[in-house]
Amino acid sequence: MEAHAEHKPWFGLEQEYTLLDLSDRPYGWPPNGFPAPQGPYYCGVGTGKVVQRDIVDAHYKACLYAGVKIAGTNAEVMPAQWEFQVGPCEGIEMGDHLWIARYLLHRIAEDFGAKISVHPKPIPGDWNGAGLHTNFSTKEMRVEGGMKHIEAAIKKLEARHNEHIAVYGEDNDKRLTGRHETGAIDKFTWGVADRGASIRIPREVSAKGFGYFEDRRPASNADPYRITGIIVETCFGSAE
Ligand code: ADP
Ligand code: MN
Ligand code: MN
Ligand code: MN
Repeated sequence: MEAHAEHKPWFGLEQEYTLLDLSDRPYGWPPNGFPAPQGPYYCGVGTGKVVQRDIVDAHYKACLYAGVKIAGTNAEVMPAQWEFQVGPCEGIEMGDHLWIARYLLHRIAEDFGAKISVHPKPIPGDWNGAGLHTNFSTKEMRVEGGMKHIEAAIKKLEARHNEHIAVYGEDNDKRLTGRHETGAIDKFTWGVADRGASIRIPREVSAKGFGYFEDRRPASNADPYRITGIIVETCFGSAE
């Protein structure tokens, strides 16, 4: 990070997680069955759509109070799954902030009798997995003309797909199936506003011509220091 500090690398992580009850079942799921199929839960509001919002809100406040750069939350596609976003953070501080945010989440969920799972595919089948989408930009990408720097970085990422997957979390093969809003683990793809790609360029970034991109491959249990480390290593390394 220090060697490339002049590029001012910014990261934003989207930490997805699942709330479990004491029997390791997603919180609020029927003990011997399943909830209705996915669809009404993402960014949901109300009973039957979301559970344990108190945890999410208490965690958000604790992070703000502690000085963690948390910036948002949302209910996820699978019921009992939530997400919080931390960032933008510059360089090594991304790992520091996410690590403390994870600690606070476990600590606060304890007060409410829920367990936190960061398994990338907590429930097999037609239920979304959990990721740690990693948004990235450099000072060159954030200004006019930035798209050519974004495209150059994506090219370098493509050449090192396997090296990245190797540090993007355990059991990620169960999640990166090419279904449930993921790209396939053995195939590097990118696109504008494409949730099924390895790398997504947000629609707004494409329209403006500069900004940042999202690496959707990291799993929810990945180590943020290793993710941010390899992204910087790849994007600032030589083309080969
Ligand atoms: P999604 O549409 O993928 O759900 P979110 O709104 O959940 O996106 O998360 C977007 C993330 O991108 C946030 O963590 C935010 O801090 C980060 N972000 C925004 N702008 C930049 C930027 N220029 N460089 C790096 N990260 C950024
Ligand atoms: Mn998100
Ligand atoms: Mn999400
Ligand atoms: Mn995302």
